[in-house]
This record gives sequence, C-alpha cells and structure tokens, in this order.
Amino acid sequence: MKNRNNSEFRIPNSQFAPTLCFPGTEKSCFACCPPIRSKGYEHIQYKSMVRRVLRENTLAFAGSSKSVRPITGLSCWALGYLDNEYKTVGCLLHPAKNMGEDLRFRVDYGEKCSRESCLEAKTFLELKTSERKFWLSLTDGLDAFSYSSRRFNPLFKLMGWGVGLLQQIAFDENNKATTRHAFFRRYPFFSTGLNPRANAYALRQVIGKCKIDLLKSDAFRVRFEAFSGCISVRLKDGVFPSPEAPYTHLLGLDRQFLDFLRLSAGISRIEAEEALRLKEIVDTAITEFKSEESDRIP
Ligand code: SF4
Ligand code: SF4
Repeated sequence: MKNRNNSEFRIPNSQFAPTLCFPGTEKSCFACCPPIRSKGYEHIQYKSMVRRVLRENTLAFAGSSKSVRPITGLSCWALGYLDNEYKTVGCLLHPAKNMGEDLRFRVDYGEKCSRESCLEAKTFLELKTSERKFWLSLTDGLDAFSYSSRRFNPLFKLMGWGVGLLQQIAFDENNKATTRHAFFRRYPFFSTGLNPRANAYALRQVIGKCKIDLLKSDAFRVRFEAFSGCISVRLKDGVFPSPEAPYTHLLGLDRQFLDFLRLSAGISRIEAEEALRLKEIVDTAITEFKSEESDRIP
C-alpha cells in the first residue's frame, strides 16, 4: 500500500506531479503500511519506537536478495527511509527503489501492497497538478509522521468532500499556497465534526457552482450540521431493513448519494427503487434548505 506512488520518488522539478502518498522530498505518507494494524493505530503514537525500527530496517535492507520473508506482527521489515536525510518513509521493495523491479513479492502481502490505495489518494489523483499543490500547501511543516496521521494531516478529511468542491475552492483561491491556520480561519465550515463522505452529496447540492462563500461562515456550518442531522434521522426512521436487498454501494446511482445513505443514514442494503424514493426526499429537503439559505442573503 504505502507510497504506491513511489514512482514519483525523484527530485521534484517543474513537471513533478505530487501524489498524496509522495508529495515531495520533505515528507511522505506511510500510514497504510503494513496492511495489518489495530483499529485507530497511527505511527505517530509510537514515534520513537517506529523511528528506531525504520532505521534498523533501512540499514539491514539487502536490496539484492530475492528471498521471501513474510511480514510478522504489526511491522514490515521492508518499510524504511527512502532518503539519506531520513525524512521520507516508504517501501524499500518498491520498483522506484529497485531500478524498476518490483520486489514486493518478498513479503506475504506483496500483491495487496502493489494493488491497493486509500480512497483519499485516489481522490487526490483526480486533481490537476496546480490544485494538488494548493491543497498540499496545507501540510507544509508536517514531517512524515504527522503527514501520515489522520489526526494531524487535514487532507485525509478534506479529500472526503469530493473532487468537485476541492477544485472549486482551489480555483477560487487562484491555487495560491496557504497555511493550515489561514485556510481554516477563512473556511470555518471545514472545522465541522461531520463525516465528509457522509455529507458531501448534500453539501455539493447546496453549494452548487457559486456559493463557496457559504463555507466562510461559521453560522452556515451550524445550520448545515443541524440540517444533516435532521435528514439523516428522517431517512433512518423511514426505511425498513431489507437484508436481501443489494448492497447500497453497488447500486448505479450517484456515488456521493450512496455514501450519504450508507454513512449518514446507516442503510447498507436497499432496493434501487427504494433508494430513488429516498433520493427524492433528500433532494426536496435540500431544495428547501437552499431556499432558506438564499432568503438569508441580504
Ligand atoms: S494511506 Fe493513502 S496516502 Fe498514505 S501511503 Fe497509503 S495509499 Fe498513500
Ligand atoms: S512490502 Fe512495502 S508496501 Fe508492503 S507493507 Fe512492506 S513496506 Fe509496505
């Protein structure tokens, strides 16, 4: 998993397209390495111990060996430092570290390692290079440990609001680099405790193409949170569990709407017709909420 995009592991130049895994030479993400972790585990919680292990792994790494040695416990022997200054952390078996040869078969999870990527990394890849750089400016000053932490790296949460909104904000800000503090001061909405993926559908409808300024209002955040809570309860109360129905996430409807059903209303299985009925309810409620918001504009 980690640094799947180690292929970008080279000195950044003007053509360099950063990834969420490997944003540059100052830091990297290794949050999903190794694949077996206890729930809520973050490397930063055990920073000194992990740093010692990373140093040992890097020094002990025998690049020329082809022997297979499975990952044991919660640590992978192939996770180490990628640069001489010990700033970036990643997979020592990645092709980018081995003249194009993928050596990840040397651990039990090799296939999983090269195949998978987190949702946030996928969302990030949909952004243009200039937009990626804008969002990455919010992580300036983080080291590999804090950058790999869902608690300290705001991008993990922000990616959940969806590519469209992320692009709109970057456009509105002329892709001009900012700081975390300045960004959250300017957009207090994003300090919300709401789950972004569960609420991205509703927010996208409310903001549309030209109401970004609403995100600069803390009062709007409070109203949206209340709206989100109400509509979620309304759906939960209005649907009967149907254990035989298709999984919600497999229906061919708007992806963000399906996330709303699953993550906000807790509906994991539903017939397509029923989902469409709920969509009508949600869309009507959103239209009413939008109209109330419009009435507030002096
Ligand atoms: S957690 Fe996501 S961003 Fe971080 S290394 Fe893994 S795939 Fe990349
Ligand atoms: S083999 Fe590489 S990608 Fe897989 S868990 Fe180990 S360090 Fe991470």
